Amino acid sequence: LAKWNEIPLAPPDKILGISEAFQKDTNSKKINLGVGAYRDNSGKPIVFPSVKKAETVLLEKETDKEYTGIIGSKKYQDSVRNFIFNNSGKDASGAQLIKEGRIVTAQTISGTGSLRVIADFLKRFNSAQNIIVPKPTWANHVAVFTDAGLSADFYAYYDKENNDLDFANLKKSISDAADESVILLHACCHNPTGMDLTPEQWEEVLAIIEQKKLFPLVDMAYQGFASGSPYKDIGLIRRLNELVQEGKIPTYALCQSFAKNMGLYGERTGSISIIAESGSQAKAIESQLKKLIRPMYSNPPIHGSRIVETIFSDENLLSEWLADLDSVVGRLNVVRDKLYQKLDKTNYNWDHLLKQRGMFIYTGLSAEQVIELREKYSVYATEDGRFSISGVNEHNVDYLADAINQVIK
Ligand code: PLP
Repeated sequence: LAKWNEIPLAPPDKILGISEAFQKDTNSKKINLGVGAYRDNSGKPIVFPSVKKAETVLLEKETDKEYTGIIGSKKYQDSVRNFIFNNSGKDASGAQLIKEGRIVTAQTISGTGSLRVIADFLKRFNSAQNIIVPKPTWANHVAVFTDAGLSADFYAYYDKENNDLDFANLKKSISDAADESVILLHACCHNPTGMDLTPEQWEEVLAIIEQKKLFPLVDMAYQGFASGSPYKDIGLIRRLNELVQEGKIPTYALCQSFAKNMGLYGERTGSISIIAESGSQAKAIESQLKKLIRPMYSNPPIHGSRIVETIFSDENLLSEWLADLDSVVGRLNVVRDKLYQKLDKTNYNWDHLLKQRGMFIYTGLSAEQVIELREKYSVYATEDGRFSISGVNEHNVDYLADAINQVIK
C-alpha cells in the first residue's frame, strides 16, 4: 500500500489539454482547432437531423433498456456488416464473404474500443506480437496497442520538409518490417496529415503486404469525409475483399467508428470486423471475441447502436443521413478552400492544403509557430501543426488567415 505514495503525476492528454486552455482564454476572437469534432458555421456542435429523427422514432417505439449482447445486437451486426462490406451492392467480393459467413462483426465502444478489442485479440491469438503504424499517426494508436501488450513501431509515411506523402520510404520501411507483422492502415483521411494514398499507391503497398504476409488492420474513423460519400471512401476495403477472395491475403480486420460520420461521438458506437479464412473459423473468432469482451465491459451501450439500426433500416432516413454527411463534408471543403485563398503564398507553399482531406489540415507549421499563434492570437492547435478545419468558419477564417500570415512572415 505504501506504493500509493509513489504514484507519479501523469502528463495531461495533449488534445484535451488544449481545450482546457482554450476555455480559460477571454479573447473573444479565440479559435479552437484542437479537437477533431465537427462544428457548424457558427462554431457550434450539431446533432445530424437524420440522427434526431431516428431518436424520435426510438423515443416512440423503444420498449426496453435491456442489455444488448456481448458483441451487440444481431440487427446491428448485420446492418453494419452489410453497410460496409456489401457497400450498397458495389462490392461483389464483400457480399460473397458475407454469404460464406466469413465476416465476424461485433459492436464495440466506438473506434477506440474496437482498436483495443482487436489489440487484445491479436495479443491472444496472433503469431506476430508487433504492429507497425504510420509516422505520424493518431496520438492514441501506440498507447492502445502497447497497453494491450503488443510492441509498436513506425513505418515512414509523411515528408515534413515537403509537406507530402513519403511514398518511397513508406514502401521501404514496410518492406523492412518483420514478416507477418500487423500493419495499421488508415482507410481514408489519414489522421493527422489528411494525406491518403492513391489507388495505384495502395496496389503497391498491398503487393508488399501480400508478399510479406503482413496482417492488415484497417482503422476507418472518417468514412465519408474524403469524398462526402461513405460508399466512395471504401476503396481499400473493396480491394482487400477481392484479395481475400483471390486467396492472396488470408485475413484482415477493420476497426470502424460512427463518431464522426454520424456525429455520435459521445454515444460510443462503432464496430470491429474480422475476416476469417472460413465460416467455421469465423464462429471460433466470434466466440473468442465474446470471451474477451465479457470480463472487460460486459456489453456495449445501446442508444447509439439503435440509432444506427434505425437509420440503416429505413431508406428515407438512410438518404437523409447521406445528405447530412455530404453537407458536413461540403462545409469543411468550402472553408479549406477559403483559408487556402487567404493564405500568403509569397514565402510559403500552401498547396498541400488542397491535397489533404478530412477533418484536419496538417499545416507544416513548427511548434514555435503554433505556440505564437496561441499566445499572440488565441488560436489553439496541437504543436505538431495539425489544425482541425471544423473550428474554421466564414466568421473567423479571415482572422485565422491573418494570424497565420503573421507567424510565417
Ligand atoms: N482512429 C482515428 C484515426 C481517430 O482519429 C479516432 C478519433 O479521433 C479514432 C480512431 C477513435 O475515435 P472514437 O473512439 O471516438 O470512435
